[in-house]
Parts: sequence; structure tokens; C-alpha cells
Amino acid sequence: MPGLIRIAPQETTRPPSVPKPLEFSQRWYSPYDNLGLEPVVSVFLARLAYFRITSHADTSEDEVGGVLIGQWCEEPETGSQYISVNHMLPARHTRQGSVYLTFTKDTLLDVHDQIENNYPEEKIVGWYHTHPRMGVFLSHYDTFLHNNFFPEPWQVALVVEPFTSAAGFFIRQNDGTLDPSRYFGFYEMDGANGRRSVVHWHNLKKTESEFEGGTSYE
Ligand SMILES: [Zn+2]
Repeated sequence: MPGLIRIAPQETTRPPSVPKPLEFSQRWYSPYDNLGLEPVVSVFLARLAYFRITSHADTSEDEVGGVLIGQWCEEPETGSQYISVNHMLPARHTRQGSVYLTFTKDTLLDVHDQIENNYPEEKIVGWYHTHPRMGVFLSHYDTFLHNNFFPEPWQVALVVEPFTSAAGFFIRQNDGTLDPSRYFGFYEMDGANGRRSVVHWHNLKKTESEFEGGTSYE
């Protein structure tokens, strides 16, 4: 497709061994979690990234999007892989429309420059985009974008529906498949120890937390 470039595949070595930040996280479940699906990674989302993504999502009735920046890691004891989404970068040069969003050559050059300058230790762990009034799913075109620009098994796609305030992470499964309709929840980082959750995606349910007396379902 003219005008598009592919993000060069990143190294395929094993990820660094780092314990999951479970102590400071609250788990949000999608309706499709715990159905026996086997996502390659679980997702930890930092509050700052959540705020920036939701703010960006609220700026336009057209689709907007960008990339997710963070770490790809492995839990030392279990070997289970996860990503932490620490930052986001809005795609400044996307062609925005109500039906599609694309990454252009300028977008990706800009992203790589910014990562090199600001987050030299981090990677592109996926991308996000909005579906105003459309629901949470991956279109055929979204799946095309995901497989072409974010081909690593552990790279994820976050879809946000800003009008109903819903969202979900699309994650490849261990057999390599990517389900375009069944999305996963995530861990909200920095949210334990009695701090209230900041997540307002109504289609996800929070795990019961001992810090809130087991009344955390909204
Ligand atoms: Zn889409």
C-alpha cells in the first residue's frame, strides 16, 4: 500500500525477567477473559497512559489513534509474558476519517524519533485507536494494520469507544490467532493500597479488592 511503511520487526529474543507489578495493580476483566482463551501476554496499563489515551479519545468524533510505549517482560517464576504500557504517543500525521485510520510514513518516523529521544529503554508494545459510536472490535482493516505494523506476537491493539466509554485489548493467542471480536481486560497499575481506580470503561469489571471491602463492582 503506497505511503505506508512497516515497522521493522524488533528483536525476537526472550524478554527481560521482571516480576509483575501485581502488588500495585487492580485487575479489570472483559466478558471474554476466563473463557479458556490463551493470550500471549497480559497487559499492565499505567495511569498516566490511561489518562492520555482517554483524553485523546475524547478530542474528536473521528477516529484518532497512536502507539503504546512500554516494556515487554517475563515473570521470573512462571515464565508468563506481559507488557506494561507506560506511555502513549498520539499519531500526529494519521489521515483521520470516520471509517478508517492509517499510519503514514511520517507518523512512524515521528514515533521512532520520539522513542529514541524520550524513552530509549522502551519499545512499541502496540497501538490504540478509537471507534466513535462503533463498538469495540477490530475491523478487517484494523487487523491488516495490526499484522503489518505490529507483527510481534506480544504487540497488542487497544480499541476505545469514547461515547459509551468502553474499551478492550486485542491480543494474539498462543496459537498465533487474533480474534477480532473478543478482547481482553488488563491490570490498572498504581491502583492498589486503597487508591481508588481511575478507569471508567464500563464494559470491564474490576476484581474484588480487599482494600475496598469487596464492594468494588460498579
Ligand atoms: Zn478500527
